[in-house]
Amino acid sequence: MTKYIFICGGVMSGIGKGIATASIARILKEKGFRVTAVKIDPYINVDAGTMNPIEHGEVFVTEDGVECDQDIGNYERFLDENIPRENYMTTGLIYQTVIERERNLEYGGKCVETIPHIPEEVIHRLDRAAKKAKADFVLIEVGGTVGEYQNAVFLEAGRMMRLQRPRDVMFILVSYLPVPKMIGEMKTKPTQYAVRSMNYAGIQPDIIIARSVVPLDGPRKRKISTFCNVAPEDVISAPDISSIYEVPVNFEKDNLGNRIISKFGMRERNRKRTEWSALVRRARSAKKPVRVGIIGKYFGTGNFTLSDSYISVIESLKHAAWHFGCKPEIIWLNAELYEKNRKSLKELSSLDGIVVPGGFGIRGVEGKIRAIEYARTRKKPFLGLCYGLQLAVVEFSRNILKLSGAHTTEVNPNTRHPVIHTMPEQLINIKEQRIGGSMRLGAYTCEIRPGTISYAAYGTKLISERHRHRYEVNNDYRDELEKHGLIASGINTERNLVEIVELKKHPFFVATQFHPEFKSRPLRPHPIFLAFIKACMR
Ligand code: GLN
Repeated sequence: MTKYIFICGGVMSGIGKGIATASIARILKEKGFRVTAVKIDPYINVDAGTMNPIEHGEVFVTEDGVECDQDIGNYERFLDENIPRENYMTTGLIYQTVIERERNLEYGGKCVETIPHIPEEVIHRLDRAAKKAKADFVLIEVGGTVGEYQNAVFLEAGRMMRLQRPRDVMFILVSYLPVPKMIGEMKTKPTQYAVRSMNYAGIQPDIIIARSVVPLDGPRKRKISTFCNVAPEDVISAPDISSIYEVPVNFEKDNLGNRIISKFGMRERNRKRTEWSALVRRARSAKKPVRVGIIGKYFGTGNFTLSDSYISVIESLKHAAWHFGCKPEIIWLNAELYEKNRKSLKELSSLDGIVVPGGFGIRGVEGKIRAIEYARTRKKPFLGLCYGLQLAVVEFSRNILKLSGAHTTEVNPNTRHPVIHTMPEQLINIKEQRIGGSMRLGAYTCEIRPGTISYAAYGTKLISERHRHRYEVNNDYRDELEKHGLIASGINTERNLVEIVELKKHPFFVATQFHPEFKSRPLRPHPIFLAFIKACMR
């Protein structure tokens, strides 16, 4: 029988519920179980594709082409497995399905109601995810915090499931314990209220993960136990630590994995945990710095700037750097600065390498193009990702092909030289404003040209990578670009689309139309990132 573990958040958001879920998944996997993880986003958005990454964080893309929450990326990185489309749902998606079904008379004339029909659809989807993964454990991360109106139907789904299968369902609360500066003492009251909120929903947490800046002490553990009605051994200390990859190791110090499986009356099937511990050691002992600049556009709310929009890129750089025993130093660079003042490009000189990641729209574009020109002419290792490829082609067309005003039609639809443009079916989508879920999404194959940097990196001719874009290199310009030295080293042969470009006379200038960052794993760094970091180290 599949076991279901609901992971809910208490007190506030942003305390690492996703990492906690991914870490529990890792722990259970290492104990020899088949594990999968589901993310529930309590938004009306049908998927994450229409959410602004600057507000919501990165939009992750699965192999099968779902635009989803960045936590799915965490699950993939910790589990080292692909997560399928079944494992992501939003309020919008659930309602959409139920309404469609109602329109088809599939409820046979019944009144369709929030309760029980919405939670029933949720449960149906959880079972489907379990079946697809043939899972021993399904972890379900419920977005938001307990007590808010938005995720109430999902808690209700959990409550109903527990009622139906009392031996197969468990609840974990990831809560936060503040240590107010003026008191200096860790306070448990907000967590007590969070548990009360769960109790109102008819749920009692089985385990509490106590997030805080410092570890939990004995008295606090007992206090939480007494007031929140869980055994002291089920209160898990989860202090801030420097690397997310250490979280599973930390949880295991409090024996979290065995607490979970013993509650289900199970026994661990496997005891070796060498791979992950080796990774943690590798990351810890990495000393030699490698300085990589990420040129993006950032948005500050007050004193706060969200770098979450590039989370997979950051993690990919870490994975590759650790592989070589290097400590990645990531520098955030604001593209808009180079538009205002060309001189500020000088700050790029101290970097070992430059990344121009994915993006949309006009803001910061000219600044990114200037940074790419800098990387090309000053022979700095450069990695372009998606928009990064498109803008590298624009830069090359303007400055080497001398096509003045060359552009992507995303920014200038009337450019004389549309070196980046849309495929015909995408034109219809744009015209009819069919935006959500309509980009080129998910895995596509790519054939690599032998004798190129890309071929040396992958060591194979046929690869498959994930996509998320609407625009493509315009094939009318391909010969001219190649003649001048911008090699199309990767091609999607079914549609004859450029997937990778690279420069010949440059230490490392590679740009991909796809997003290699979605496939990098801590235990299996991505070949393109490895090649890039290697070039940065030189
Ligand atoms: N805006 C570009 C496109 O839609 C690039 C997208 C991206 O970088 N993910 O094609």
